[in-house]
Amino acid sequence: MGATVIDGREVARSVRERVAEEVARLAAPPGLATVLVGDDPASALYVRNKRKQCTQAGIRDLHQHLPGDVSQESLSAVIDELNADHDVTGILLQLPLPRHLDPAALIGRIDPDKDVDGLTPISAGRLAQGTNGLRPCTPSGVIELLDAYQVPVEGAEAVVVGRSELVGKPQAQLLLERNATVTICHSRTRDLDAACGRADILIVAAGVPELIRADAIKPGATVIDVGIHRTDDGLRGDVHFETARHVAGAITPVPGGVGPMTIAMLLRNTLAAAQP
Ligand code: NAD
Repeated sequence: MGATVIDGREVARSVRERVAEEVARLAAPPGLATVLVGDDPASALYVRNKRKQCTQAGIRDLHQHLPGDVSQESLSAVIDELNADHDVTGILLQLPLPRHLDPAALIGRIDPDKDVDGLTPISAGRLAQGTNGLRPCTPSGVIELLDAYQVPVEGAEAVVVGRSELVGKPQAQLLLERNATVTICHSRTRDLDAACGRADILIVAAGVPELIRADAIKPGATVIDVGIHRTDDGLRGDVHFETARHVAGAITPVPGGVGPMTIAMLLRNTLAAAQP
C-alpha cells in the first residue's frame, strides 16, 4: 500500500485562513517590513510572494527595497529605524545578501520581538532554552504538518538529516520540545542509512537531491522532505519520492509539501509578533 501523501498546500491554506481571521480581530493590523537588498531575481520572487500572502491575510506591507551596493552602515541604520517604528511589528531581512555585507551582524541587529524569521541569536537562544519566542518558519512548518496529520511526536524516534541554523538545528530543537527522541545526522555521519532506518519520523534537510532512498526508510515511517532542487526532470527533493512512497506511511511531495508551509508560518509569526 502506498503512503499517505501529505498535502502541504492544503495545510498552508488553512494556516493562512486562521491567521487572516485573527488579524481581522486585532485593533491594529500587524505591519511586516520585508527588506530586499539588490535585484537577485530569486530573492525578488520570494519577497513578492511573502508580501502578497501577507497582504491577503490583512497584514500591512511595509516593504523596503535597497540598492545592491548599500553599505553595512546604511543597512544597519535602516534596521534600527524599523526596530524603533511602532507601525512595524515584524522585520524580515531577505537572504542571501550581496557578498560585501555581513548577514550575521545585520540579522543580530533585528529586535528579537520583531524577528519573524526566528533567526536572531536571541531567538535561537530562546528556542534552545524552551522559552517563548519566534521560531524559524520552515521547521515550524514541518511541526505543523506533523500535527495536521496527527503524527505522534512524543516519544517517537525522530531523525533530522542536516544541522543548518536555518532548518536542521531548530528542527531538532522543536522536536525535542515536543518530547521526541531526536538524532541529528550531518555530512560526517558514519552510517546515514542505518540512522535513518531507525526513524519513526524522518526529516531530511541536507540539500542533496534524492539522497534518501527507500532502503533507508523504516516501513510506515513519516518522511518529511525539506529539500528543493530544480533539475532537468522538474523539482525534486532530498528524498527519492517514487521509491520512498512505497515504504513510508506518510510522505511530503516536492513540490507541494514543506515549501508552502514556510510562508504560512511567516504569517503566523507576524501575527504572533504583533501580540506581545
Ligand atoms: P545547508 O546546506 O545550510 O545545510 C545542509 C545540511 O545537510 C548540513 O548541515 C550538512 O551537514 C548536511 N548534509 C549535507 N550533505 C549531507 C549528506 N550527504 N549526508 C548527511 N548530511 C548532509 O542547507 P539548508 O539551508 O538547511 O537547506 C537544506 C535543503 O532544504 C536545501 O535543499 C534547501 O533548498 C531546502 N530548503 C527548503 C525550504 C523550504 O521552504 N522548502 C527552506 C529552507 C531550505
